[in-house]
Amino acid sequence: MNLTIENLSKTYPNGVKALQDVSLTIGKGMFGLLGQNGAGKSTLMRTIATLQDADSGTIYFNGIDVAKEPEKLRKTLGYLPQEFGVYPNVTAEELLSHIADMKGIMQKGERKDTVEALLQKVNLYDARSKKLDGYSGGMKQRFGIAQALIGNPDLIIVDEPTAGLDPMERNRFYNLLSELGENAVVILSTHIVEDVSTLCTDMAIIGNGKVVLTGKPQEVEESLRGKLYEVPIRKEQLPDYQTNYKVISQRFFAGKMMITVLADDVPSGEFDAKAPSLEDAYFKILSEN
Ligand code: ADP
Repeated sequence: MNLTIENLSKTYPNGVKALQDVSLTIGKGMFGLLGQNGAGKSTLMRTIATLQDADSGTIYFNGIDVAKEPEKLRKTLGYLPQEFGVYPNVTAEELLSHIADMKGIMQKGERKDTVEALLQKVNLYDARSKKLDGYSGGMKQRFGIAQALIGNPDLIIVDEPTAGLDPMERNRFYNLLSELGENAVVILSTHIVEDVSTLCTDMAIIGNGKVVLTGKPQEVEESLRGKLYEVPIRKEQLPDYQTNYKVISQRFFAGKMMITVLADDVPSGEFDAKAPSLEDAYFKILSEN
């Protein structure tokens, strides 16, 4: 099971270069695509999902040429878009049944079984007869996953799924997502570093339409071991520190500004060594691109 993207480029009519020569090979499991807003993630996801075309380059999934055989790809695709429009006046059960019908599950009994199993899987069975407009953000996201899973897709694309979820809902959604990668290629597009470090076995960082890093989250973190230092400072000292050190991030901690600095050797001053996190690696990449 393999998704291969080669030299994909896309420039929108307004001149924005949303994808520039993107190449990625993605196998079974959870793959995190991390990047800031506007980096090009949705453009890439939508192109893989056959919703828009690239200007050049190719995408193959298990031998299917995605641009040339979109129908074939769609049969094996589950897609949860960033904004999943729900129909306010129907129940979860009705809408799932309708989508299953459109996806080719014509036989009534089979459709009922499929819908029931999916509602159980995403823990919405008890709310199956409730109208979707009464669902919370987390319930809507889980419904989105249920519809994406109709037909047992081998390729699942989830675009910024945890934005707007409260911590409990996010946790429940994480548990659901992490099951999916066992049998499919799952691509999770997000600007939330925690999503990737919690869930993904492999990742890429995309910035300004280009792939700027690929690897395993742990390896990406480890590459910074022994190179990070932190120190609490006063806010007004920041410009000085930025002049004298390579400051990759700053955050407020217990009323003080805590800065993280990248250095090959222990910097002079009051610094403490810091264990690297994926967030540090992400900030380092962003500071360089
Ligand atoms: P992300 O999903 O990482 O936030 P997008 O793929 O949505 O990034 O956007 C990448 C860039 O392309 C942004 O600069 C965005 O403004 C631009 N863009 C996205 N869609 C369109 C469009 N339909 N027409 C013109 N520009 C677009």
